[in-house]
Amino acid sequence: ASTWANVPQGPPAILGITEAFKADKFEKKINLGVGAYRDDAGKPYVLPSVRKAEEKVISARLNKEYAPITGLPEFTKAAAVLAYGKNSSALDRLAITQSISGTGALRIGAAFLARFYPGEKTIYIPTPSWANHVNVFTDAGLKVEKYTYYNKDTISLDFEGLIADIKKAPNGSMFLFHACAHNPTGVDPTPEQWKQIEAAVKEKGHFAFFDMAYQGFASGDIHKDAFAVRYFVEQGHNICLAQSFAKNMGLYGERIGAFSIVCESAEESKRVDSQIKILVRPMYSNPPIHGARIAAEILNTPELYEQWLVEVKGMADRIIKMRALLKENLEKLGSKHDWSHITSQIGMFAYTGLTPEQMDKLAKEHSVYATRDGRISVAGITSDNVGRLAEAIFKVKG
Ligand code: PMP
Repeated sequence: ASTWANVPQGPPAILGITEAFKADKFEKKINLGVGAYRDDAGKPYVLPSVRKAEEKVISARLNKEYAPITGLPEFTKAAAVLAYGKNSSALDRLAITQSISGTGALRIGAAFLARFYPGEKTIYIPTPSWANHVNVFTDAGLKVEKYTYYNKDTISLDFEGLIADIKKAPNGSMFLFHACAHNPTGVDPTPEQWKQIEAAVKEKGHFAFFDMAYQGFASGDIHKDAFAVRYFVEQGHNICLAQSFAKNMGLYGERIGAFSIVCESAEESKRVDSQIKILVRPMYSNPPIHGARIAAEILNTPELYEQWLVEVKGMADRIIKMRALLKENLEKLGSKHDWSHITSQIGMFAYTGLTPEQMDKLAKEHSVYATRDGRISVAGITSDNVGRLAEAIFKVKG
């Protein structure tokens, strides 16, 4: 028998949607499965600031030597300022490493916690959460538990349930929070609710791990989107943080991100940094350089930085506009449902509240493709297809 005769077939990944979409012959088919930004013509978008930065990088004719184990310092320093704020007390006591985008940042963080977290090696994640969280954490050796987050009936945050679960967990537990633009629901706590979450986390002595995959991309404002991260640090939490530049710089395939831990002191951050290096070295030795150079160029060149801020806001605004148009179109068709969640949710995704059966109907009868949990990528909506999309949703749901 073959050496791999016992390898079972795994279930299809999310990309199965793209395959079904490709196989559909209907001209006006709509793909709302992919988690990547599209412009109003439905095309992938390279930010002009990224093009400029890349041209600068290329014309500098730099060599292709290895980066340090924790990446390019001009990138990680700037990434830290972006996340924590330029006057943050965290900056002088931070251990930070470049990572293979947000996923790699989560994975390094998980490995560090698995090795060094002094308490129970269990991390609590929201229900639902980005599907990959469970796998990243369990593959790195952590146990995963769930906390209440979303209420299906109200299509909004179950705030009481969330606070109750924070209080129910054993003291000193690890909690993963989506910093902004919760994936898949698009439902975020308000600043006031974050303050209460912080108080509950502090009371219980929990440890907070923030996943910030959408800074700037959610509201259009990089500071507003970093509120929870910065507030926790201000309140004395030595958090850890996974950052991604996939969405806010559109650098998906460049795989550029950062993982950081806020330490008690500069001395502590040196020790933590040494252990992050020991973790990274046998995983991939050191990170790729191209995306880091582009991101560093943007973050460290004032004119490019200003241009980038405008472009991130442009992406966020287009998504916000498509949400409004979708809701408006559904109402115009005479839908009696309350669609206000479409516009109150934030970020790339809208959680429509449609059932798996209704999602199947959308695909089969209307050539509209998205995940069966009712999540649609608003980035895939355009001025051109929003009308047809609203009609399709109206037909399956009313
Ligand atoms: N966290 C969340 C919540 C996400 O939605 C994503 C992207 N879909 C990521 C992390 C990581 O993405 P990447 O590895 O492409 O940065």
